[in-house]
Amino acid sequence: MALIVQKFGGTSVANPDKIKAVAERVLRKQAEGNQMLVVLSAMSGETNRLTDFAMEMQQFPDSREMDVLLSSGEQVTVSLFSMAVKAQGKQGISYLGDQVRINTDDAHTHARILSIDTEKIQTALDKGNVVTVAGFQGVAQSGDITTLGRGGSDTTAVALAAALRADACEIFTDVEGVYTTDPNICNKARKIDKISYDEMLELASLGAKVLDIRSVTFAKQHNVPIHVRSTFTETEGTWVIEEDSEMEGRVVSGVTYNKNEARITISGVPDQPGIASKIFTPISDADILVDMIIQNQDTGNGMTDMTFTVARSDYERTINLLNEIAEKIGAREGVHGADNITKISIVGVGMRNHSGIASTMFRVLSREGINISMISTSEIKVSCIIEEKYTELAVRTLHDAFELDKENMPEEEEL
Ligand code: ASP
Ligand code: MG
Repeated sequence: MALIVQKFGGTSVANPDKIKAVAERVLRKQAEGNQMLVVLSAMSGETNRLTDFAMEMQQFPDSREMDVLLSSGEQVTVSLFSMAVKAQGKQGISYLGDQVRINTDDAHTHARILSIDTEKIQTALDKGNVVTVAGFQGVAQSGDITTLGRGGSDTTAVALAAALRADACEIFTDVEGVYTTDPNICNKARKIDKISYDEMLELASLGAKVLDIRSVTFAKQHNVPIHVRSTFTETEGTWVIEEDSEMEGRVVSGVTYNKNEARITISGVPDQPGIASKIFTPISDADILVDMIIQNQDTGNGMTDMTFTVARSDYERTINLLNEIAEKIGAREGVHGADNITKISIVGVGMRNHSGIASTMFRVLSREGINISMISTSEIKVSCIIEEKYTELAVRTLHDAFELDKENMPEEEEL
């Protein structure tokens, strides 16, 4: 008998009728001879609604109380779900994070799962129950309720699948899977059948809408295969799994973009030991995350420039901070930047053993007259910073050039 973990997101359990439909779907799977462990999110919109209430009480709501509050959303859906199971004449039982014990650290509102006691769940499953566990919540050693951060139910599902050595972990959502690019801007975007953990992590900005990225890190560590699929159809979705040789055959798996970045340059920086640290230490002390960094070579006068990117929401703050730093270190040409940029990336494990992928990307962008202002590469990704207004054009032309709409990859000469 197989043990299957199925997680349903907020849109799948948005109202009592949808909860009934999900219960019926789960019971059909059980009737095929499987043990069923279900993880649910709160009804869609509920966590936001509760957050708004909290903001009416305190400008910065107390994080312990926030967890008591937010965990109530999932308490509603799991109890209703179990009732729906019983209404079908079947056995079901729901558990909250502290009843199972999903043990976490005490970082309220962004806790990390440390361990899970599986005994209670296993016993209930063995008795024939559909077991339902509230997603997104756990319990600290103190006994206080914790939550895992927004979107955390996916991680609950993967962690339970790992702890119980489930045969499958299925994440049900309102789209059919992970696509080669954003279907909203490229109508040729194709659903990917299978993708490696590493590619999924790099495609975060595409995938994050369907799968919380922390759950992928967890799945990779514990080698849990994830099947992301739609609640509203029977169609196979996308498998997120360990890399295999077939995946390596395809050089590019997806095109992704991030409009949430800003570029900043500090010019006329003395080219001396310790300068990078004098620039970036105060920035990290201010909790500003820096993504790409480029330092130019000394132009011959003992001076250099540094360009880097930060989240767009940190742009003003970083510019102000950097102006102070520029004064201190005697950066003579000052600070400038732009927040109307996009980072566009191509991702694929096949890049490890194919050359010329980056240059193809540059050629494709230049053919469209799109200027690249920064470039960074990793083993399985090439990213370029371009002007934001060219985002859609760049996504579509790269998707075409690498023939991502086709199941099989093109011959290299065709690129
Ligand atoms: N209900 C939580 C949220 O909306 C957790 C989840 O749905 O994964 O973020
Ligand atoms: Mg989600």
